[in-house]
Amino acid sequence: MTSQPRPTRNAPNLAIYERMESEVRSYSRSMPRQFGRAEGVWMYDDAGGRYLDFLSGCSTLNYGHNHPVLKQALIDYISGDGITHSLDLHTEAKAELLEAFENLILKPRGLDYRMMFTGPTGTNAVEAALKLARKVTGRQQVIAFTNGFHGMTLGALACTGNAGKRGGAGVPLTHVSHEPFDGYFGDGIDTAKMLDRRLADPSSGLDAPAAILVETVQGEGGLNAASPEWLRSIAAIAKRHGALLIVDDIQAGCGRTGGFFSFEGMGFTPDIVTMAKSLSGMGLPFALTLFRPELDLWMPGEHNGTFRGNNHAFVTATAALRHFWTEDLFALDVARRGEQLARRLTTMAEEHNLAVLGRGMMRGLDVGSGEVAAQITQAAFKKGLIIETSGPNDEVIKVLAPLVITEELLDSGLDILETSVREALSPTLVAAAQ
Ligand SMILES: *Cc1c(COP(=O)(O)O)cnc(C)c1O
Repeated sequence: MTSQPRPTRNAPNLAIYERMESEVRSYSRSMPRQFGRAEGVWMYDDAGGRYLDFLSGCSTLNYGHNHPVLKQALIDYISGDGITHSLDLHTEAKAELLEAFENLILKPRGLDYRMMFTGPTGTNAVEAALKLARKVTGRQQVIAFTNGFHGMTLGALACTGNAGKRGGAGVPLTHVSHEPFDGYFGDGIDTAKMLDRRLADPSSGLDAPAAILVETVQGEGGLNAASPEWLRSIAAIAKRHGALLIVDDIQAGCGRTGGFFSFEGMGFTPDIVTMAKSLSGMGLPFALTLFRPELDLWMPGEHNGTFRGNNHAFVTATAALRHFWTEDLFALDVARRGEQLARRLTTMAEEHNLAVLGRGMMRGLDVGSGEVAAQITQAAFKKGLIIETSGPNDEVIKVLAPLVITEELLDSGLDILETSVREALSPTLVAAAQ
């Protein structure tokens, strides 16, 4: 096998999707192929095409597709007739996960959190976090941020910035104030100070919040990375004004920004953390809401859900924790790969006068408009690279390569991106060189 992707040439027959699947489908529109197999950093379509996956299920597949260790753990578990679904009954698979999470993730980081198994999607973890914050504080208002993305169910959607997404609700989405994220007004303006001032002023019109909900790097909203200083200020503001700090680590967590949590080493501890996406490590649906034990004021069954016992996801999540998070080696690897990514993107940005955004293995290029970004991602796809966009106008090319990618393959995917950016932004140069 060569390391160069090999895109398909045959026209795919996708009539069944046009005929049967709802118009609501989205990613499949920009990648009109049918995929049959995936392994590691590669996806294969049914016409012989091979693609490097720089989308990773939106950071759901941080350890790559079908990682052999995770896959074997699941195969063994299924072969042994391990329990698949169990509501929230005690199971061996759940006990092993709780122990691994306590010993490999929480203890080494000096964190003390209760683990709440919510319904299996990220938005459900956010709903649980919001409910709990409102219950604990007796307040209704939540502070979220410009360009924040937190999910599609009504409570989480109310906290999402994007008007198009919120518009889908069909009812008013209330009790959330969207405050400016770090850097929203440019470098000289400290938006944390603005928020503090407004919360301290009884006549500002901003009610005392139950929670401040924040992503450390905005995954869907354009890869804006908050500075540690700004996040520490926000944590202090939450404390000062009696609000709980919720870090939505659904996309930035599980190693994407280096550590298991995206806020590690920043000098503050969230009251509540939401996790999903790469938590199961294999693309199995699984979400968690973590919170300080004192906040655990839930009545039994008060926030419920049928699928809180996805034991297959527990098994692969435990295998992922044991395989990747027993030592620091993985985080160091991700840091190195993140530096490589930053270097390559900076070169592209300098060539075309663009901005590089993000942190760790969650970085991208702001190419100015959604049209240009789409042109670039489409060109990249034709060359065998799966890559998507982010941002208020989809103007940010977002690199979410699997964290397990080798230096060589990361480079070869970035070569494709570099060429695609050049074709879109300096077509005459490209033509002259040919
Ligand atoms: C994806 C995402 C969600 C929602 O997760 P779903 O599984 O799609 O419901 C929430 N918050 C962030 C930061 C996300 O990236």
